[in-house]
Amino acid sequence: MDLGIQGKTAIVCASSKGLGKACAISLAQEGVNVILNGRTASTLDQAVEEVRNQAASGVTVTPVAADVTTKEGRDLLLQACPDPDILVNNAGGPPPGNFRDWDEKEWLSALNANMLSPISLIKATVDNMCDKGFGRIVNITSAAVKAPIPVLGLSNGARTGLTGFVSGLAREVANKGVTVNNMLPGIFATDRLPGLMNYIAESTGKSVEEATEMRRNLIPVKRFGDPMEFGQYCAYLCSVQAGYVTAQNVVLDGGAFPGTL
Ligand code: NAP
Repeated sequence: MDLGIQGKTAIVCASSKGLGKACAISLAQEGVNVILNGRTASTLDQAVEEVRNQAASGVTVTPVAADVTTKEGRDLLLQACPDPDILVNNAGGPPPGNFRDWDEKEWLSALNANMLSPISLIKATVDNMCDKGFGRIVNITSAAVKAPIPVLGLSNGARTGLTGFVSGLAREVANKGVTVNNMLPGIFATDRLPGLMNYIAESTGKSVEEATEMRRNLIPVKRFGDPMEFGQYCAYLCSVQAGYVTAQNVVLDGGAFPGTL
């Protein structure tokens, strides 16, 4: 299926690895020019190669080494691409822990990374999208928005704040050809997975292998997600065909959320 977005341009934040990179690859395969981002220049360089190798012909892949959670970093992204057609918001997630150990500093850091930074980038780009009559904004959040995980309180709180904001915004810009959706990953096999399994092993007294098996078994499809499954769904949400899909929170978790809706 031709997604109808060849020649468009996307800023994909935090995309030198994992879910962000998979989104960038999938968009580049559809002929979208991508701005690739990460803080570590060497990882970013490798990712540029990887995305270029899989991109449709003629696609440009522009690296921006920057911290998206800082104003300076976001300015660098916007200098590289002041007027994107597509914005994929992403950043690292806050650490797990006990809320009794968190002070204002930890909360402000999580809010900055997972709520205020994406809102800043949306603010800088959405009006141009409206003027052009086409825009796609996808925020990578977490399945924890729908089913909060107690040890991820910082993530639960900050990402739910973003979700509330964009729910209102999506309706405001809906008649301008601009969609705003959130993707809520369950557990995907990215570089983040070993750290998560170590944490579960430590907190349950199991070995890492046992913890991994236990966690995998809780997922109805009995496996962790492939990042490209996530990336390709992102590309679909950015497609012309998905123009009637907005203000949605799409859970990609192998059936792990146990509710009917
Ligand atoms: P990952 O594989 O660890 O990749 C994270 C990517 O983001 C890397 O390219 C990293 O590069 C970049 N990055 C991190 N902080 C950044 C920053 N401040 N500025 C710019 N780039 C930054 O992680 P992932 O699994 O793809 O997860 C992506 C997001 O989804 C995270 O917020 C995570 O909490 C959330 N999530 C993931 C899962 C999952 O199963 N994978 C589930 C729920 C939620 P540098 O370190 O070089 O900057």
